[in-house]
Amino acid sequence: MGASVLVIDDSKTAREAIVTLLKKEGVFASYHEAVDGEAGLELLRNLPVDVVMCDVNMPGICGFEVLRILRAETQYADLPVIMLTSNGEQKDVVHGLELGASDYVTKPFDPQELIARVKTQLKIKMLQDQLKTLANTDPLTGLSNRRCLFEALTRELSRSQRFGKPCSLVMLDVDNFKNVNDRFGHFLGDEVLVAVANRLQSATRIYDLAARYGGEEFALLLPDTDSAQAFIVAERIRNQIEIMFFPDELESLKLTISAGIASFPGSEVEIVDDMVSLADRALYKAKHGGRNRVEVGL
Ligand SMILES: [Mg+2]
Repeated sequence: MGASVLVIDDSKTAREAIVTLLKKEGVFASYHEAVDGEAGLELLRNLPVDVVMCDVNMPGICGFEVLRILRAETQYADLPVIMLTSNGEQKDVVHGLELGASDYVTKPFDPQELIARVKTQLKIKMLQDQLKTLANTDPLTGLSNRRCLFEALTRELSRSQRFGKPCSLVMLDVDNFKNVNDRFGHFLGDEVLVAVANRLQSATRIYDLAARYGGEEFALLLPDTDSAQAFIVAERIRNQIEIMFFPDELESLKLTISAGIASFPGSEVEIVDDMVSLADRALYKAKHGGRNRVEVGL
């Protein structure tokens, strides 16, 4: 997906000049325009935007107010916002930077300077996005990591509580994984974990989250899913892994997993920790019940 820019300016001439210039340079894949602050904020809430260029002097809410509103919201706290100030208004520049503007361009603008400033902000945004992805991803398997799982679980549980919808957490653990490592070595052991991760990923719907919880333990977050439905999902994965075929040196490997399920609404599930420990207890039960099985936490 290419980058996108939003130009907020009450002057049609200014908007067109900026968009034409950026288009000519091919800086972005998509270009959006708004005639005032309110329209700009509305667009931002409905479209993915990587860089905002915002005029200071506009009817209705001014550029500073737009900036203030954006910086107050977590999701826009780091969004690059370049203020468009009029020549000679040095105090506007200072005020904008104090409010958290990423940079500013003075009108009438120098085309090369504007492009350079925009490109710099876009580069910063791309690096921020990459860092966010890295911070949320398990490097071996490419699944979400535990940190990301907890964030998503917190969000999902509060959503479920607010709207009275169910959600489920499935904890899955590869059975006797230590034996796999002992028999085949850690390098092939890692390959096995990647294969399990891929299986989990393909078993999930677009709004589910598959995560590596740590070591050979994985987790699935299933929104809008009660414990009976979660059981079906977990049982299907358990079965798919049992019949999974490994090539080459791993050909003789027979892999199984155990799983434990916790669901909201469920007994004593009020916070994220309740859900995790309930799923853990169910997983423990599955292990002690002979492994290669799914248990629902009650
Ligand atoms: Mg203006």
